[in-house]
Amino acid sequence: MANTDKTADRATILIVDDTPENLGVLSELLQPHYAVRAANNGARALAIAASTPRPELILLDIMMPDLDGYAVLERLQADPATRNIPVIFVTALNATEDEQRGFELGAVDYIAKPIRPAVVLARVRTHLELKRARDRLQDENAWLEAELKRRNRQRELILASAGEGIYGTDAEGRLSFINPAAVALLGYPATEVLGRPAHETFHRGDADGPLRACLNGELGIQDCADRFLRRDGTWIDVEYTCEPIVEGGERLGIVVTFRDVGERQRYLAEIERKSNFDELTGLPNRNLLRDRLNQAIELAARDDEKLAVLLFNLDRFKNINDSLGHPAGDAVLRELAGRLLDSVPPGATLARIDGDQFVLVVPRQADSAGLARLAQPLLQTLAAPFRIGEREFQLSASLGAALYPIDGQDSESLLRNAAAAMYEAKAAGGKRLSFYTAAMNERAIERLETENDLRLAIERGELVLHYQPQVSLRSGRIIGAEALVRWQHPARGLLGPGSFIPLAEESGLIVPLGEWVLRTACAQNRAWQAAGLPALPVAVNLSARQILAQDLVELATSVLNDTGLDPNFLELELTESMVMADAEAFIESTRRLKRLSISLSIDDFGTGFSSLSYLKRFAIDRLKIDQSFVRDLTQDPNSAAIAQTIISLAHSLGLSVIAEGVETEAQLGFLCTRHCDEMQGYLFSRPLPAADYAALLRSGRRLALPEPARTANRTLLLVDDEAPVLAALKRLLRRDGYTLLAARSGAEGLDLLARHEVGVVISDARMPEMSGAEFLGRVREMYPDTVRIMLSGYTDLDAVTTAVNRGELFRFLAKPWDDDELLLTLRDAFRHYEIRRGHRAGAG
Ligand code: C2E
Ligand code: CA
Ligand code: CA
Repeated sequence: MANTDKTADRATILIVDDTPENLGVLSELLQPHYAVRAANNGARALAIAASTPRPELILLDIMMPDLDGYAVLERLQADPATRNIPVIFVTALNATEDEQRGFELGAVDYIAKPIRPAVVLARVRTHLELKRARDRLQDENAWLEAELKRRNRQRELILASAGEGIYGTDAEGRLSFINPAAVALLGYPATEVLGRPAHETFHRGDADGPLRACLNGELGIQDCADRFLRRDGTWIDVEYTCEPIVEGGERLGIVVTFRDVGERQRYLAEIERKSNFDELTGLPNRNLLRDRLNQAIELAARDDEKLAVLLFNLDRFKNINDSLGHPAGDAVLRELAGRLLDSVPPGATLARIDGDQFVLVVPRQADSAGLARLAQPLLQTLAAPFRIGEREFQLSASLGAALYPIDGQDSESLLRNAAAAMYEAKAAGGKRLSFYTAAMNERAIERLETENDLRLAIERGELVLHYQPQVSLRSGRIIGAEALVRWQHPARGLLGPGSFIPLAEESGLIVPLGEWVLRTACAQNRAWQAAGLPALPVAVNLSARQILAQDLVELATSVLNDTGLDPNFLELELTESMVMADAEAFIESTRRLKRLSISLSIDDFGTGFSSLSYLKRFAIDRLKIDQSFVRDLTQDPNSAAIAQTIISLAHSLGLSVIAEGVETEAQLGFLCTRHCDEMQGYLFSRPLPAADYAALLRSGRRLALPEPARTANRTLLLVDDEAPVLAALKRLLRRDGYTLLAARSGAEGLDLLARHEVGVVISDARMPEMSGAEFLGRVREMYPDTVRIMLSGYTDLDAVTTAVNRGELFRFLAKPWDDDELLLTLRDAFRHYEIRRGHRAGAG
């Protein structure tokens, strides 16, 4: 890639020497490869160094009149503009002392006179490479720069030993000169070896070697590989050049320049490492991954082995960035990288290639069963919640796997196919691993086609709106409708929003789509009103992407204008994730929309991350309790508690509250007794085509509300899976005039509890599915005032203990029971219940 011979990429080199001959030699040598500038004195050199194009390297003669090389170097170093230009000193052969001083001042290297072309070119190339690597690093990011500085000392050490060693001999081959790099590389102090025969010292007296030939006056040798002996008896692998020193036809000796190959490679690897790592997580980045993957493929091909590429991607990571901001997203990624790294098998490479996209390359992977085992710990890294400041949340990820060689032969196709598999995992709901199959590419293409189709669908009018009625829980009357979009696909039939809204959001099509929905819903509502139907609001969903892409206030104003709908009959449904992207901006837009008299609600409330302190400042009108809580309302104490809390929260903020997805009488009963204001759900009506909704409005149909709580305190709930037991109890208890409810299972019992106010519950201990202990435990959490009695055989002691512990039983009765004792116990229990209620009524 880096081709110094290309003019576009030519480095500028400044050569400084007071002898015109030297300048001539150097520039002739360098000009074919570099842009050369020359100066024949120090002052001129400083001027050129500070001008543009700034030289990337300076070859500086030491011995010059006026300003000598040292002075020039000092001034270069003092000026921030020139400080980073590497300087190579050009010096007389045996000026060891000069060199020492030069290194101290910050020269990066030496070239000895007489000038040897190969040496000059090699060193110039090396130092330019180093400089460019360093510049690239510095440009790339501040972190690495800091990292470099921190490691500066270490780097210089490496440099010293990676630098070229030089020694010279006299005509007899005795060492006359050795530079610090050679000293470092070979481990001899200069004082010890000077004067000794080089061959015996470094080459074990190898009399026929090329060095000897060189000494004997044969031609110089270049770029040979050999090993030199160190003082400690070990050998180092070197590349070296050897040149005879000839003056006036007389052979004076040789100069050997050598470099430790291993050290140099280690050093280059170090440079490589620094430019190949991801700044945020410290993991290999895409570049390095490609290299590693290519290597792994080569090895796998050679050894006829398989290789797995796993792509790891967080589900809904966008939400975190959108709602908590990018610093939070970064923190999550850093934490995640750490966790992943801990669970990566030895020999595997983990890289971060983009956003929340991690790749794992695992050599020697034989089959998909092994892969599944491999994926497990990766998915497991998400088991523990993430914490950002005060918030704690759970994340999940999708994994896609592709195997070499079946799923791809090269890095590109392996990564692409692993990505296709990952998307497949995501489409299936995330939190799983998918293996690549050829069909996936087809599906990827299909997704593209769908996107195209969707674009056209908007133009062709294939989108339709359905309207789901919303009902008051006080009157049972319809109070409005939510507009829900569908796609009448020419080939695939009527598609729900789940199959195209996410795509629309990804592709940006959500903006025109959302505008169409808003316009259509407003126009439709206006048309209904014009047709004499009761004037009711219509609610329209907005996506977070929309709020980022356009000015909603402007859009709403123009749509209301165009359609002539009174803004009082429009409601916008916002989600919590929109809020946090830019809370202040969001608060401001809610206020402006409010001023237009548009109503606002927060959709899917309870699933996002909104903070209560913000909630108070939004100009909203109602909260929509998310379906997921409503679904489990009567069975799961947590959902019940959340729903209950949302209702109280809304009321204390002066907002109304609507429950979505209400499907059963039991849910309805719960919501009514908890004073939820409104509902929406299949129990009353599914979303309807416009004409059907209009017909429903015209019909005046109402939701049948549960009767308000009766003489509540005398209601008794019996739960037993055995019908004869229930029958016997009923017979017995009817005498005392209780209102009796009977259930055959815990679940059924909870349903009844949701719909009736029950004073006392008697439950069997042993029931399939939900045990008596479990059931009474839930009753206690959800209906703490209710008095709980357990019926059980003497043998179920364990169950009883658990129940007592979990459910705080009022009494435990053994089967078969004594009728009188049971009746007495019940009277006691109801008295107890009234006291509890009395306390509560008195307290609140
Ligand atoms: P949502 O806003 O939470 O809408 C309520 C969803 O619950 C609707 O699904 C509705 O049909 C469904 N639903 C209503 N009652 C019940 C019930 O009793 N039981 C069950 N199980 N489901 C019920 P739908 O129509 O499939 O819409 C799904 C989501 O697509 C919506 O969730 C909303 O987020 C999005 N969406 C729909 N229309 C639009 C639109 O025009 N723009 C945008 N941005 N999103 C839309
Ligand atoms: Ca909605
Ligand atoms: Ca919703």
